Amino acid sequence: MTPRSIIPLRAVEETEQVSRTVAPPSGAPHADLSMSAVHAPAPLPANGKQFHIWTIGCQMNEADSAKVASLLQEVGYRQTASEDDADIVVLNSCVVRQAAEDKVAGKLGSLARLKRSRPDTRIVLTGCMVTNQQEQLRKRFPHVDLFFDPSDFDRLGLVVPELARLEDDLAALPHYYAPAADGLEPAEGYRKGVTAYVPIIYGCNFLCSYCIVPYRRGRETSRPMGAIVREVERLVADGVREVTLLGQTVNAWGHDLPAKQSLAELLRAVDAIPGLDRLRFLTSHPMYMTDDLFDTMAELPSLCEHLNLPVQAGDNEVLHRMRRRYTRDLWLERLGYARSRMRDLTVATDIIVGFPGETEEQFLQTYSMLEEARCEKVHLAMYSPRPGTLSARWEDDIPHAEKHRRHQALEKLQERIGTEINSARVGSTVEVLVEGKNKGRWSGRSRGNTLVHVDMDDEVDLLGQLVDVRITSAKPWFLIGEVAGTPARPESSSPRTP
Ligand code: SAM
Ligand code: SF4
Repeated sequence: MTPRSIIPLRAVEETEQVSRTVAPPSGAPHADLSMSAVHAPAPLPANGKQFHIWTIGCQMNEADSAKVASLLQEVGYRQTASEDDADIVVLNSCVVRQAAEDKVAGKLGSLARLKRSRPDTRIVLTGCMVTNQQEQLRKRFPHVDLFFDPSDFDRLGLVVPELARLEDDLAALPHYYAPAADGLEPAEGYRKGVTAYVPIIYGCNFLCSYCIVPYRRGRETSRPMGAIVREVERLVADGVREVTLLGQTVNAWGHDLPAKQSLAELLRAVDAIPGLDRLRFLTSHPMYMTDDLFDTMAELPSLCEHLNLPVQAGDNEVLHRMRRRYTRDLWLERLGYARSRMRDLTVATDIIVGFPGETEEQFLQTYSMLEEARCEKVHLAMYSPRPGTLSARWEDDIPHAEKHRRHQALEKLQERIGTEINSARVGSTVEVLVEGKNKGRWSGRSRGNTLVHVDMDDEVDLLGQLVDVRITSAKPWFLIGEVAGTPARPESSSPRTP
């Protein structure tokens, strides 16, 4: 996950978590809030105040930040790219790796200086760093005005009063954002331009031995299907064309609901929403990646041919100690089945190198598995012990230099594979949803989630359009092309299976 400009562009494929700023909306016609007037009250007039949001971590955090941004904009605040100009600064934190936590601490340090020079600036800290840690954090960062738990994000009725306490003129918010009938859901969707993230399940029931997420995000809690469908309908009415359903184990959705529903059922319901062009979901756990789910993906017109299926390691003994509950062969077999059902499927995965006790032979198993799997994207991470997790009790015995070497080796491998895959696309035509401009060029993503830059006359406004792009050149992490035409929305009968 990388810094974003106008739009959620993940430019160079990220191997480390990086901080980013949620940029102000593009001002494109589809972003006009008047389109949402039938679904939500009209936004309050500008109040002359500004907010700044800094986000690090996963797409869940991005979704939460987008929600806060949307909320503050609706009550008259304007977004600023600079914390120095802001009346409210929101930091959305991550603790999945020590490096991320260190960046948050560094940012909080610089905000202490800002608070000294501008004491009226309100500083808010949210994200995984906050869960169960408020007392310690209050002592460590006394300049922070408000800590709020990420679990409050799905309940704007709770979060909003917290924010409202900061500023008198936000006091009208709880009334403004009346919770929906089921009591759990925000009354308003949140989106950035033409794409939007929609969290559908919170928490995680797995206890991978290295991972802090279950300790900070709790057990799996699925949102009801009706609430998700209503939210996507609202987003589509607001001009969103692509929705990504989110969860740490997104394909566990529904297991905990009274009706014991499945993600496949939810995908069918969301796909049926008129006007939604593209649907994605992430992150999936291999254990829940059933034939039925792949068959459903292959069948639904809006479902993009992209699979995010973290594997973490290619050696069975390491996978066992990671408590991943599958083998290398099972992961490869799932990929094989998916590819047999969906032509042009692209695959992204996550890998951790330098897990405690990982031998050179075991690392080479990961290397050979990635060579065999030929994923489009691999999110690489060097193992980082996390307090409270099982593996933190084991010696972190792979020196940093060795972790770095393994990381580099996989990065190089992936660069070669990415170059081969993308070079084969030169001359082909791909459908691109144009999300914004990147260094003066229109950019967007293919259905397979590949970043595509479009060479185009500057006068032509492509923002928010689905265009056919003929690929003229390729790099390991993105494609470049020129507009070849505008595709129609795919028909439900369109052939997608090989
Ligand atoms: N739920 C997803 C799954 O099943 O893989 C992943 C969610 S996790 C928050 C995101 C990624 O962070 C993981 O895929 C893993 O590669 C990385 N990660 C998590 N804990 C880590 C740790 N202790 N050290 C290094 N990387 C870690
Ligand atoms: Fe963490 Fe494992 Fe849950 Fe993913 S499945 S969030 S890696 S515990």
